[in-house]
Amino acid sequence: MLLKRLRNVMARGGAAQLRLDQTVKLIAGEMVAEVCSIYLLRAGEVLELFATEGLKKEAVHKTRLRVGEGLVGDIAGHARPLALADAQHHPQFAYRPETGEELFQSLMGVPILRAGRVIGVLVIQNRTRRQYTEEEIETLETVAMVLAELVASGELVSAEELRPGDGIALLPLRLDGVTLCPGLARGIAVLHQQTLQLQQLVAEDPERESERLAAALMEMQSSIDTMLSAGDIAGQGEHFDVLETYRLFAQDQGWRNRMMEAVQTGLTAEAAVQKVQNDTRARMREMTDPYLRERLADLDDLANRLLRHLLGADMPTLRRLPEEAIVVARTMGPAELLDYDRTRLKGVVLEEGSQNAHVAIVARALDIPVLGRCQDLMQRVGDGDPLVIDGDNATLFIRPSDDIQATFVESMRQRLVKREAYAAIRELPAVTRDGISVDLNINAGLLMDVPQLAATNAVGIGLYRTEIPFMISHEYPDVPRQTEIYRKVLDGAGNRPVIFRTLDIGSDKVLPYWNRAPEENPAMGWRAIRIALDRPAMLRQQLRAMMNAAAGRTLSVMFPMVTELTEFDSCRRLLDLELKRQAGRSTPLPSEVKVGAMVEVPALLWQLPELLKRVDFLSVGSNDLQQFLFAADRDNPAAAGRYDTLAPAMRRALAEVARAASEAGKPFGLCGEMAGDPLAAMALLCLGYRALSMAPPRVLPMRAAIRSLDFNGLYGYWQTIQQLDGPSLRSALLDYALDHKIPL
Ligand code: PEP
Ligand code: MG
Repeated sequence: MLLKRLRNVMARGGAAQLRLDQTVKLIAGEMVAEVCSIYLLRAGEVLELFATEGLKKEAVHKTRLRVGEGLVGDIAGHARPLALADAQHHPQFAYRPETGEELFQSLMGVPILRAGRVIGVLVIQNRTRRQYTEEEIETLETVAMVLAELVASGELVSAEELRPGDGIALLPLRLDGVTLCPGLARGIAVLHQQTLQLQQLVAEDPERESERLAAALMEMQSSIDTMLSAGDIAGQGEHFDVLETYRLFAQDQGWRNRMMEAVQTGLTAEAAVQKVQNDTRARMREMTDPYLRERLADLDDLANRLLRHLLGADMPTLRRLPEEAIVVARTMGPAELLDYDRTRLKGVVLEEGSQNAHVAIVARALDIPVLGRCQDLMQRVGDGDPLVIDGDNATLFIRPSDDIQATFVESMRQRLVKREAYAAIRELPAVTRDGISVDLNINAGLLMDVPQLAATNAVGIGLYRTEIPFMISHEYPDVPRQTEIYRKVLDGAGNRPVIFRTLDIGSDKVLPYWNRAPEENPAMGWRAIRIALDRPAMLRQQLRAMMNAAAGRTLSVMFPMVTELTEFDSCRRLLDLELKRQAGRSTPLPSEVKVGAMVEVPALLWQLPELLKRVDFLSVGSNDLQQFLFAADRDNPAAAGRYDTLAPAMRRALAEVARAASEAGKPFGLCGEMAGDPLAAMALLCLGYRALSMAPPRVLPMRAAIRSLDFNGLYGYWQTIQQLDGPSLRSALLDYALDHKIPL
């Protein structure tokens, strides 16, 4: 009923302000509330009272609240509904005498959202204590959706004002982010979320709307099938799994049913799609779980796609992209990336996103630079702004000055020169000028990383992070699935050795299908082999899959986060049990099994001789070792950035591992980020390290650095700088590198 009446108000035409005034009256009446008010967002993140029924009329266009201020500001700030039986005693309540609000005890409000952005708040209030129901919140949300269309017309608040950025947006800006797919790119900003105008929200004929929805779903399904069969994305790799999951989502019966039900309540097909998506967003908004956030991006992608089919709107592919385009989005689904003309798409920038974001995985397969986690991106960038992505420094330049553009063009040129120089040394060994040879390995975690072995001519995979396939999968991979992954890794590596690390989940690496209690200090909590030893079946399955995959070949396994010797012993015992179990079966055993431990918990530093008796090799995980040695969260720049890998404590810890392992005659190496840093590598060489494992793009630059070094000369210098008692040897090593023209 309310929707029908609302439609009549909207259809009546006339000034938008008038329609807004009629709307608040209508809602107040229908929802039996003494007050209904609409606040709209103005420039400067201010919410202005635009219409009210029940509050003092003089307050309209006068009362203003900052986003975050008061209950209304709180609804806008968190983009979530609030329903309070006793609003006046809520700590966020901000009293505004001009409104006469003090008379009303209960409050329910919902954000007015457009393209995922808050553009206003719709509120009802009651004089006496009232418990609002879930259903009432939903009704108000649907109404807010209708209002969003009225606001978007630009009559109430100008289109420029609605466009985020308010003025400051025109200055050149720099935003820091996180490089999700490396590379440099320059182009013109294309805002991804082109908002679709929903013309009609209330249906004339629900039957016809069901048919429209069903037809659009069918059309969408077949267009997805066509899209996913394109030559450059077909084939193996995680991006393919990601897209397959997406295809399954499109067929999800629950999603379809929810939309059909929404149509039955009197919404048009497109309004039903939007409503269901708004509900899903509202439910998932507060989730911090990165995997579920990815699911949300998938679902947004699908909902937008379906809306386009319903509205007959162009797919972005059909929009003419500038010759060099950089797509800008809050988040993006994996298939949305594929909508763009790949010959013109030079890069992607996201406000959210993570290494395992589905869009990042697909972008990596297509080699498109992606920068993620750029704060306030959508408020800073406008359609058509020139952009530069500097993936090396995880920086985005918005409307860069001519100087920056020129510098960037120059670094692109230099990069090309360097790339050619690297290509020329690809086949040459990583040996210093005086003959010290270093094994350069790659770190990998995705099947699509494996071809990097050949591309960089690395010795092998020094660290295969097995948790990554677990993290992007929608269900726990069983033994056959795991076997298939590990077999593909070994096949892809050919004769080059691979070290598999057993699951290092926990901490920031969450598995979507596994509900775990939140932890106060997850990095130091229940993670890696601590989980494995409490859930031995999991570890045994993983080891079994590795053995099956390695059949007849060498299997190298290492355990993460070993803290005590008994933990290593227990892991080893499980491995032996699996070996025994496998021995009686038809699958051949690995020709040889090597078992190692990662040194990443400082406690191990005082157990090295005993540990070395038990292991076949050691690998230092410098990322975690540094985190725990300095008690500094590795993901928090404010903490991690304070300490250097070349600080005396770290240097001594690394020296101790090298000394003890050399004495025991056991191979050892290092596989944290510092392995890819030429200055750190110079130090590691001096400390006795001869095996480094790094991100693939670091291998060729590292080969160049090593080939230009004279080890004896460096070692002499190294000994002289040991006496320095500064916080780090970095600057001393930098001086040396510059003096000796070591490419950094
Ligand atoms: C490390 O801790 O250094 C390491 C290589 O493991 P990860 O980065 O996966 O924790
Ligand atoms: Mg680690």
